[in-house]
Amino acid sequence: METNLKNKVAVVTGAGGVICSSMAKSLAAMGVKTALVDINAEAVEKLALEIEKEFNITSIGVAASVLDKDSLIAAKKVINSKLGSINYLINGAGGNSPQATSGVDQMEESDLENLDQTFFGMKMEGFDKVFDLNFKGTILPSMVFAMDMIENKSGSIVNVSSMNSYRPLTRIAAYSAAKAAVNNFTQWLSVHFSKMGVRVNAIAPGFLLTNQNRFLLTDEATGAPTARGEKIIKNTPMERYGTPEELQGTLLYLLSDWSAFVTGVVIPVDGGFSAYSGV
Ligand code: NAD
Repeated sequence: METNLKNKVAVVTGAGGVICSSMAKSLAAMGVKTALVDINAEAVEKLALEIEKEFNITSIGVAASVLDKDSLIAAKKVINSKLGSINYLINGAGGNSPQATSGVDQMEESDLENLDQTFFGMKMEGFDKVFDLNFKGTILPSMVFAMDMIENKSGSIVNVSSMNSYRPLTRIAAYSAAKAAVNNFTQWLSVHFSKMGVRVNAIAPGFLLTNQNRFLLTDEATGAPTARGEKIIKNTPMERYGTPEELQGTLLYLLSDWSAFVTGVVIPVDGGFSAYSGV
């Protein structure tokens, strides 16, 4: 079966990062024109050139913040004039903050001496940042870029969630809650748009070793796995980290007509982590 992806236009937010740069390449490989939106203009301009060279298909880097509606509206103007009407949106910009990460997994009596390491030491500023980036940063681009899809009565949005959205992971209270909100919003928007030909789904990646979590999973000095890193591998039935490339198939499936009757789902791509009770 052919996919309907060729010559479509996709906006990828956070395309300067590890996961979404790989997603953008997988789209280009299928003949999709990509608009790479990121606050890091240099990263996405460089990636767009790489993509054009490697896949011989139009790609542009556009500087905008997923937290600034005006910058997204300005980006949309550029995208429409250079690539045409938008068919797909990947809401990939997201991440955690050390300010909303506790130093210990579980509070113990002895932590009463060092409350900074516990829930009591977490900064509201960190909670705000993480909720803004992951939750508001999914809502605002959807509000701006989905308009073309609604007008065309056709389109697909894929949000990037996380394992922590189903059950929170220790330490990362804000990030877990913000991704749970992304799942909830994915379902909400899918219902809201369901009569308009626009589907909304999400991918929940399992554990990948990337810049955003490296400080939690490997020892900075030695590169050896931390106790947390060891726990993750032990609780992932496939006994390894995933790679960004392993998210590509699910992304292409969710964008294409192969998933024409699928909306409002969050698909885990996790080596079995979410299915495993640890026993
Ligand atoms: P990354 O840090 O490599 O990339 C994130 C990108 O988002 C960066 O290029 C950054 O410049 C950009 N960005 C940050 N703030 C922005 C803003 N306001 N507007 C526009 N762009 C902004 O992250 P990653 O590891 O590739 O993660 C991508 C997505 O996958 C995130 O939503 C993340 O939460 C999710 N995720 C990552 C993992 C993992 O293991 N790395 C696991 C599950 C989910």
